[in-house]
Formats: sequence, C-alpha cells, structure tokens
Amino acid sequence: MSNFCENIYDCLDTIRCTFCVSCQECRDCQECYFSYQLKNCQNCIACSNLVGKQYYIYNKPSTEEEFRKTLALLQSSNDLWQKAKNVFEKIRSESVRPEGQFINAENCLGDHLQNSRDCVDCFDGLNGENLRHVLSFMDAKNSAWAYALGWPYCELCSHTCVARDSMNTHFSFYVHSCKESWYCDSCGNSSDLFGCIGVNHGQYAILNKAYSKQEYEVLTARVIDHMKSTGEWGEFFPLSHCPYPYNDTAAMDFYPLSESEAVSRGARWASPIKSKNTPNTSDAPLHISEYDEKKVGKERAQKNIDTLLAAVFRCPVTCEPFQIIRQELAFHIENSIPLPTIHPRQRHRELMKLRNPRESFERNCDECHKKIATSYAPERPEKVLCEACYMKHIY
Ligand SMILES: [Zn+2]
Repeated sequence: MSNFCENIYDCLDTIRCTFCVSCQECRDCQECYFSYQLKNCQNCIACSNLVGKQYYIYNKPSTEEEFRKTLALLQSSNDLWQKAKNVFEKIRSESVRPEGQFINAENCLGDHLQNSRDCVDCFDGLNGENLRHVLSFMDAKNSAWAYALGWPYCELCSHTCVARDSMNTHFSFYVHSCKESWYCDSCGNSSDLFGCIGVNHGQYAILNKAYSKQEYEVLTARVIDHMKSTGEWGEFFPLSHCPYPYNDTAAMDFYPLSESEAVSRGARWASPIKSKNTPNTSDAPLHISEYDEKKVGKERAQKNIDTLLAAVFRCPVTCEPFQIIRQELAFHIENSIPLPTIHPRQRHRELMKLRNPRESFERNCDECHKKIATSYAPERPEKVLCEACYMKHIY
C-alpha cells in the first residue's frame, strides 16, 4: 500500500518516500517522522498538511540543528518514541482531509487511484481504465469485480481474485497468463479452461480433462446450462471453498468480520496461537542502541544480539508469541528505530485500522458545502474538503 518507496517503516499509503517512519498519506518525502498528508517535504517531525517544506517540527519552521536534536532525543528513548507515536495520532485526527487520494485520475470514484480514468468504486490502483469495483490493480482495463488485477496487464476479467497477465478470465482465483478461462484456481499459461485447478499449458479442458475444441464448446454450454438451473452460474466460488481462514486473509483487512459473522457465512476461522506459558527470555527488547556495536562496543552488542535472536516474546495485546529476526534487527540498528514489542500481525492490523473503508459515500465539503464523493462516511468527525478547498488550505 506504499508505492515506489525505500527504507520506510510503519508507513501507510506513501508514494516515492525514502527514510520515512510512521507516516501516512505522504508523497515524495524524505526523512519525515510521525507525519500525515505531506507532499514534497523533507526533514519534518510531527507535521501535517504541508507542501514543499524542510525542517519543520509540529508544523512550525525549525532548523537543521533543531531537527537533528529532536530526532536524536526521540531515538534515545523507547518511551519518547512511543509518545511521538501518540502525538502522531493527535495530529492525524486533527488534520483536514482531501475528499480522496487521486493523482492523474479522471472521472474516477474510490480512493488511492493514480494515472487512471473511468474507474468507479475502485481502490488502490495504478494505470487503470474503465474498471468497476476493482480493489488493488496495476495495468488493468475493462474489468469488474476483482481483487489484485494486473502486474502485468489484465483485461476483460471479472469476479476474479488475483489475476496476472490474463484476458477474459472470470470467476477464478490466482490465474496467470490465462485466456478465456472460467471457474479456475491456480492455473497458468493456458486458454479455454473451465473448472480447472492447477493446470499449466492447458487448452480446452473441463475439470482438468482435455477435450477437442468442438467437444469443449458443446460440453461447456451444457455445464453452463446446468449451473444456471442450480443458481451457481455467475457466482464466485462459495466462501466455504476457501482453504484459508478468513482472519488469515487480506479480506480481513478490507472487510473485517467477527468470528461468528465469518463462520455464519461459511468461512473458516483460525484461532491465534496464544500462549500464557511462552518462556520470555526478556520482557521487551532493549533499547536499539544496545545492539549497535558502534554505540556499546562489539562484545556487549553481540551478547545482546545473541540473546535477542534466541528470545521469544509474548505480544501484550494478543498473547501470541513472536521473535525478532536478524534482518529486521539490522534494519532497526541501521535506522535507529526502536524494536517492536507487539506481534507482527497485530502491528499490521493496527496499521490497517488507519485506512478508510473501501466504500464511497456522498457528503458535503466541510468548507464550501458542495457535494463530494469520498471514503469518509458522512457521520465521521474528520474535516473533509473538496479538491478546490483542500488546495486552498494547503497552498
Ligand atoms: Zn469545498
């Protein structure tokens, strides 16, 4: 959900950002921390709704020296770092919002759309044209009701979940380089498949059995007639066919359900591994400097690293056990970012909670009162502005 970024951490919906931490909805920024809705900014801490600024703290001009000093102070203590995260929450809640996040999007309705046109009820996409109800796409055209379409180009796909380089593919899951395929799962490099699973380099196959072109056409017509009579035709695979628990899938990010709601719809549910008896070798990781040989010397750093990598921590929120891995530790040392104390899945959930729903609502601009279409429901308390009012506000 962050595109073309490098060395970012705990960020959400950022584009072309580098060395940014705990930022959301920021674009073309460098070395910004705990900030929201920044464009072309550098070296900012705890800022929002700024364009083209450098060395800003709490939305006020600062100096390079003050910036470095404040950053060093935050990096010196896990408590101060956490407090800065709390400040970010406050800044975020008080920021004004544009009606949507669009870059070169013409005649589009949804959110987080770039270089697209005529995309309605679409979210998180790049290079789309004439799409309806498509979530997460890159290079897709003339398609509807799909999730994760493109990477590379897809066209004329519908009711499909994860399609790559495919054309005219419908009611399918995870297909790549397929054409004219229906009700398929995990198929690739094929065409004219119906109800197939795991087929590679196939053609004219029904339920994984190959036929002549003529047989295929006659039989698929019969199968479709039968499916119409049972009401199955035109429906995606039932939720009960999904081999993954609902709460282990991306669906939970977009459309969260409780266990009882998911089970009542026929989905599976995974009980998280909770362990009250997980042996904690440490209550929480030490301050990040304790693992940095440049700061505490090689011997002490190595001893702390060995202890950390062998440790199993228990998430204070979910009680699930988790570990810190070597590459993760190296990233944190290099960027002087405190180590996480909660389970990665819970971190992901908390980040996802900051996003708006994949839904469009009609409400009024909070300044000029013109009607706008936005992913902020009318009853939400944020101040949401139409494009013209938002531009006036930030420039
Ligand atoms: Zn307005």
